[in-house]
Amino acid sequence: MKFIQTFQVFPDIPKPLAFLETLSRNLWWSWNQNAIELFRRINPRLWEASGRNPIVFATRIPQDRYEELAQDDSYLAHLEQVRKRYENRVLNQTNGESPWDEGETVAYFSMEFGIHETLPLFAGGLGILAGDHLKAASGLKMPLVGVGLLYREGYFSQYLDKDGWQQEAYPETDQYHLPLIKQKDKNGNSLVIRLAGIGGDIHAQVWQIDIGRIPLILLDTNLPENSSEVRDITARLYSGEQYTRLAQEVLLGIGGMRALDALGIHPTVSHMNEGHCAFVGLERLRQIMDRYDISLETAREIVPRTTVFTTHTPVAAGHDEFPPAMVKPYLQPLASRFGLSTDKLVALGQPDGAASESPFSMFILGLRTAQYINGVSQLHGRVARHMWSHIWPTRSDDETPITHVTNGVHIPTVLAPEIRPLFDRHLGPQWNMGSTIPENADRIDDIFDEELWQAHEMCRSRLIRTVRELMSRQYGRRNAPLNVMKTVESVLDQDVLTIAFARRFATYKRAHLLFQDPDRLEAIINSADRPVQFVFAGKAHPKDNEGKGIIRSLVDFGRRTNLRHRFTFIEDYDMHIARVLVQGADVWLNTPRRPMEACGTSGMKAALNGVLNVSIMDGWWCEGYSPERGWRIGNGEEYQDHNYQDVVESQALYNIIENEVAPLYYDRTAGGTPKAWLKMMKASMKMAMARFCSLRMISEYEERFYLPASRRYEELVADGGAEARRLGDQHRRFLDKWPQIKVAPPVRSAEGPFRVNQSFEVTTVVQTGELRPDEIKVELYYGKMRHLDRIDAPLVKMMRVKEERSPGTYLYCCQLPCTDSGRYGFTVRVTPDADAWIRYRPELLTWA
Ligand SMILES: *Cc1c(COP(=O)(O)O)cnc(C)c1O
Repeated sequence: MKFIQTFQVFPDIPKPLAFLETLSRNLWWSWNQNAIELFRRINPRLWEASGRNPIVFATRIPQDRYEELAQDDSYLAHLEQVRKRYENRVLNQTNGESPWDEGETVAYFSMEFGIHETLPLFAGGLGILAGDHLKAASGLKMPLVGVGLLYREGYFSQYLDKDGWQQEAYPETDQYHLPLIKQKDKNGNSLVIRLAGIGGDIHAQVWQIDIGRIPLILLDTNLPENSSEVRDITARLYSGEQYTRLAQEVLLGIGGMRALDALGIHPTVSHMNEGHCAFVGLERLRQIMDRYDISLETAREIVPRTTVFTTHTPVAAGHDEFPPAMVKPYLQPLASRFGLSTDKLVALGQPDGAASESPFSMFILGLRTAQYINGVSQLHGRVARHMWSHIWPTRSDDETPITHVTNGVHIPTVLAPEIRPLFDRHLGPQWNMGSTIPENADRIDDIFDEELWQAHEMCRSRLIRTVRELMSRQYGRRNAPLNVMKTVESVLDQDVLTIAFARRFATYKRAHLLFQDPDRLEAIINSADRPVQFVFAGKAHPKDNEGKGIIRSLVDFGRRTNLRHRFTFIEDYDMHIARVLVQGADVWLNTPRRPMEACGTSGMKAALNGVLNVSIMDGWWCEGYSPERGWRIGNGEEYQDHNYQDVVESQALYNIIENEVAPLYYDRTAGGTPKAWLKMMKASMKMAMARFCSLRMISEYEERFYLPASRRYEELVADGGAEARRLGDQHRRFLDKWPQIKVAPPVRSAEGPFRVNQSFEVTTVVQTGELRPDEIKVELYYGKMRHLDRIDAPLVKMMRVKEERSPGTYLYCCQLPCTDSGRYGFTVRVTPDADAWIRYRPELLTWA
């Protein structure tokens, strides 16, 4: 059977319902409850059975049901309402309010995108964040395009064997069940891009999926013209084989940029979501060189100044590294286009910069090709600055040029359907605009306690119902005996304090913390007057036996006869299960080993739904925590001895549940509702709405990075790249002449001690060599000292020329004001008077 011809048959949807098809082909429906209802009401059971996939659903609806709906006035009115909103939110032009000009585009690259459970393109938080990024960009009508890979099998689906050991299955997704648009070239043929692989070219089909207004461009190597190894590049996400991983990253970066080029998209800004995407910068150099006919040196002034790089991993070992020899074949064609040796190009990803045997680091390549670098929470920003300070050895940790933008969550995606009507009524029709409308958060106080509690109880019922259904399916698949099936069908109780723990079973997430003292945990669960029940979910990486072991011991624990009813694990954690849990639990538990959780977003989703957080002080919780909104386990301590830490923190956790959480939850002295608990719920919801909303996040990216970078791009490429060339000349001049700079130790006008409000003069002699004083900045660097050799929280003051001593030698001075009492230190340094990209070159900084 060599030539199998294929074709697809779709339902014949009556004309008045034609919009249903349009709607099913834009993921916009997935975060608009009214649109979801439009599908669901056709046949609610079938909707669930179709995995909430409108394309699959459409093929299963009998033709006569369509005919019936086409005559149903109420259905048609509903459809019209959704259609109008779709037009307004997705199709309409921005009417002049947008700060963006025609032709400006941000290209956002990511290995994963978590948009909806029907698209198997994500593994965890990083992907969900990327999905939220696109949804938020659509909400704010930003000119952004997503770029990723189309995995045939995605991550993996999880099931447990009868011993509780995780098994992985890789069901292949039927691409006809996804809203994929096959891109065509000018001649109407499939758009296939090519790039150099090992032993031949890699071909990839270019697809598009619409996420509201935002196109998500996806690459797929499953083509007949590829060898079977090349086809498998896009088979699985994080397959774990190093060479596949490298090929994926090459495809994403270089291939992704080629796909955009083939589509006529020339990004003014590129954004790399984690180091996986770092090859973007190299291909972008080539495209800019070709497009503006400029040199590599000039293009190298453009790319970093218009690139954003977000990192998520607070451990150095968590970043991808490859042997240089493995990388070379992929970079060889680019190197020859650049007129460089391949070694020289590969060195861009090596820590020492020069061609060496050091591993090629995607992270370092990212750092060297991006000016705007950020971590994903305040704490993570600090950790990242410390972790990468060796790349800027001449600066202190505080001055390492890595900042942070705290993540946020897409409110319309995660808000419980039961709470939406309350928001509609009390917050108004614009609640979906989250933090961009400050009143939204304030008005949460207007929701009546009884109403909120009722909505929350409905969420909890839905959680319990879902857990029972899923567990029945799980146990049914394992052919469990009848008595077990009976227990499973009635697990959990409606009125019991429900704690959820759902996350990847990576070791640092410490699911085992709760099991340090199993007997105490058992006593907590089976407390006579204040019982507690648990729901767990989450996957361990296929190669992580330790994570799998934790799942097994957890399942084992839940098998104790007196716990079965209150201790549950649901398989195959995905976005659907995540929504049910973050909406229906009472408490969201988070026990990472600080500072390993760079941000964490599931707790924000929980908070938005009035689910209270009990968490280690890590990631976002350092910013979100206050005693009115939740609980902290410990106070942000870090420990050398991990076993000791686990003992201390697990005891703290048990104490919190027993002494604080349960008593507050079960306090119904004010009537049927827990008043004090409800107060915390509202405070949590307000916090999430105001501060942890994805619109706040993307606005920060827009204002701080995207807009300045995009404007800069336009300036840099104007007149055939004249400005970029000028910067190139300036840059080279600095690198060339900088070794001539010499700074003498500073001299002060008085010895002190001083009183507050006094000041004294500091002077220093600087030899500028061939550089002119107007090309450099001489800075007084001073501040309080708690340590012998380090200035904490330094301040910087510009010094000015007092006199020219001789040609090229100047006396600089300034006043040092004593504003506060304490022990101080000061010194002097010289930096280029240039923009941030040049100023932060480590070799362009000279200390006295
Ligand atoms: C939100 C979400 C995550 C991220 O949660 P963390 O707090 O980072 O663990 C992971 N998986 C799914 C399915 C989610 O919805």
